[in-house]
Amino acid sequence: MQVDEPVRLPRLSRAAVCGGTHGNELSGVYLVREMLKPENRKEDGGPASLLMLLSNPRAVQQCTRYVDTDLNRCFTHATLNGPASEGAPYEIFRARELNNLLGPKGSRAAVDLICDLHNTTANMGLCFIAYSDCDWVCLHIFRHLQMPDTPMRFIHFDVSTKESYSLDSIGKHGFAMEIGPQPHGCIKSNIYTAMREGVQHMRDWVSCFNSGESNVSFKTSKCFLSQDRDFCLLRPGEPLFQTFSGETVKYQGAEALYAFFINECAYYKKGIALSLARKRRVSVPSIRVRGS
Ligand SMILES: [Zn+2]
Repeated sequence: MQVDEPVRLPRLSRAAVCGGTHGNELSGVYLVREMLKPENRKEDGGPASLLMLLSNPRAVQQCTRYVDTDLNRCFTHATLNGPASEGAPYEIFRARELNNLLGPKGSRAAVDLICDLHNTTANMGLCFIAYSDCDWVCLHIFRHLQMPDTPMRFIHFDVSTKESYSLDSIGKHGFAMEIGPQPHGCIKSNIYTAMREGVQHMRDWVSCFNSGESNVSFKTSKCFLSQDRDFCLLRPGEPLFQTFSGETVKYQGAEALYAFFINECAYYKKGIALSLARKRRVSVPSIRVRGS
């Protein structure tokens, strides 16, 4: 592939913005409700069809992460296509409904792009979370965002398509937009505003791409250290936890890694204190809609 030749990709005709996949992550819930108001349904030349929906309405109603089981772990091929007994968790039925509406996962009928909105209690700024580090559409949308006051990162979960488990994996392209810190069940204006701007930037980028414009620009984001230490490098031997009796527990890994989702309250039940990632550099080719 020549470096200068843009990669030709199909038009993004159908996109979905989903909130309330976790019912107590309120920025996405309020943003989707707001976007669904008739006065806000503007035609901006974005995707020909933009679907907005609350993924887990029962959990939203109860302002809880989920009713029976975590909906955002129900989108593996096995869960979507396996047998479901009558007493199966509500979220399994809901995942299948969503798969019919936005998928089926892995098929040509699936929507072109899914943006799933989440909040974290961790101090992570704005994160794009995706299963691919060579999905140029997601990477271009990410690079199009420019929010000087919000740190931004792209997190690649290295999981195969078959094992990918979250709602955004149903679309041909998909990512979760995860913004924090915000306590679950609360809404903070700065976090809500960052999410609203992020979604608007995404829509702008999609309309620009669909129009065939070559100037789907790159913008660079600022990165700075946060006081809660998400995305700081954790080196072997550095202090990691303090026990209630006052002892320091050190990081025993052999490799220096970046910590994130530090002390995320939804992960207490799972016994996950933090996640660790390796930093990678990805070169993204320029892209152009096919046929322009
Ligand atoms: Zn979530």
